[in-house]
Amino acid sequence: MSAVQAPPIQRGRSQDGYAIGGPHVQGLQTTVAHCPRAHSPRRGAVVAHRPPPPPPSSALTCSVLVLNRLYMAVHVVNVRRAFGLLCCEMAEVVHLEDGKFGTFSFDSWREMSELRAEEKQPEDDWIRSVNFEVQVPRVVRLLRYDRLPRQKLHLNRRNVLARDGHVCQYCGRRFATQLLSIDHVVPRSRGGETTWENVVCACLTCNVKKGGRTPKEAHMKLIHRPVRPKRNPLLLLKLNNPKYASWRTWLAGAHWEVGGKDSG
Ligand SMILES: [Zn+2]
Repeated sequence: MSAVQAPPIQRGRSQDGYAIGGPHVQGLQTTVAHCPRAHSPRRGAVVAHRPPPPPPSSALTCSVLVLNRLYMAVHVVNVRRAFGLLCCEMAEVVHLEDGKFGTFSFDSWREMSELRAEEKQPEDDWIRSVNFEVQVPRVVRLLRYDRLPRQKLHLNRRNVLARDGHVCQYCGRRFATQLLSIDHVVPRSRGGETTWENVVCACLTCNVKKGGRTPKEAHMKLIHRPVRPKRNPLLLLKLNNPKYASWRTWLAGAHWEVGGKDSG
């Protein structure tokens, strides 16, 4: 819609966002574009300025867990998207502190942030707008969405690397993303398929060494048998970060199994 005045609210699949669920949640992306509050430069100051805000800060790269109205995890979005939902009053902040959680509207979260700004914690992230500073929420809850989308886990490079914790499954060493490749355990030239059970993360050296052979032929042993993950492997990486410790509360229910020993 050309009338939308909130460029920072990204439509469609955001770079950082990934669906815990499926296509139902994607529909939310379009709703925000019609948010009346996004047209108010004063109330929507965090996301509704034109030209778009400046200086990217590390806080903007954070992720925010989205719950549905029934407090079930359905999505992960980036910070801009989360503030878009808050400004449009489509969501509220769910904040966990000392084992108890409270919910906050965008305005009350701003007030809360003013108080908390006195004692910032190392794991907290903050975003500064023209007039105020606000803490980045870790969890938001949709106020009107109560469905639970079907989980859909895509087999792609990012998810395979996340599943294997960026560790080469042959030499056991951890590498940066650009130094890793996807290896077909049984090579495609030998009929190997692209499935969770037949692809692993491998460093370039190991991949070249193995070539078009099976591990047995190449005398290389897999450190883990590849399997289809039970949950989104990207979430596991987040859960190993102390910043996102509060996510465990919402991912430990029947819908999500959260273990503690996965690599990441
Ligand atoms: Zn290797």
